[in-house]
Amino acid sequence: MYLETKKLTKKFGGLLAVNEVDFSIKKGKINAIIGPNGAGKSTFFNLISGFHPPSSGEIIFKGTDITKLPSNKIATLGIARTFQTTNLFEGSTVFDNVVIGHRLRTKSNLFDAIFKTKRLKQEEEKCKEKALEVLQLVGLAKTADSLVSNITQEEKKRVAFALALATDPELVFLDEPTAGVNPDETEELSLLIEKMAGKGITICLIEHKMKMVMKLADNIMVLNYGEKIAEGLPEEINNNEAVIKAYLGG
Ligand code: ADP
Ligand code: MG
Repeated sequence: MYLETKKLTKKFGGLLAVNEVDFSIKKGKINAIIGPNGAGKSTFFNLISGFHPPSSGEIIFKGTDITKLPSNKIATLGIARTFQTTNLFEGSTVFDNVVIGHRLRTKSNLFDAIFKTKRLKQEEEKCKEKALEVLQLVGLAKTADSLVSNITQEEKKRVAFALALATDPELVFLDEPTAGVNPDETEELSLLIEKMAGKGITICLIEHKMKMVMKLADNIMVLNYGEKIAEGLPEEINNNEAVIKAYLGG
């Protein structure tokens, strides 16, 4: 078992946003979570990445219980994520966004920061090298010096991928990686996701575009009102009555 949730639950007041969800992420595969708006998909990501503490249940990663770990600890285990709405510094360049993002995640200690130690300088160099490497990987090498305010929505999505990849993760959670981009760009981003998977990175994505999910995913979980209503291969999900009903609002 790679990453597994056991009866994972999150309550917001009286609302059960995630309700006893058992899910297992398959290593080296593209896993997908689908479901109507408000189904609990982003909350499920927030629980696994440590941004919200679960109300109950467990999260096990490679045999270790990570249920109570904060987000920075989880990141050091090789788990990265993107957010549904990308918070980039619009007035900074693409390159600086990745460097700053990377630096925030690999926080140097106070001593290094105050005394500007050699180690800090070496770390900064490494941050910059890494930023160039991941921008190349996501196809933004030529866009590195553009201001974020001047790039397209699709390019912003790529910057979000670059930010996630900068920490050398083995598992990446992508929250609606193609939201707000056109069909051609969706195709391009799909190729990038496949490229990431081809490098051996395990992917778990939330996606609304069914055609894309069906083509891309090896394993799909469907959430509705916080509950898992189906799980399986794309062809199994496609013909599942509970899933069709959930999407039709039945
Ligand atoms: P999805 O990503 O599937 O659209 P979310 O996980 O964002 O759904 O939300 C699931 C439910 O939890 C929704 O009813 C939403 O309003 C609620 N919710 C999400 N985050 C919070 C929060 N921080 N506080 C209170 N309610 C929340
Ligand atoms: Mg969401």
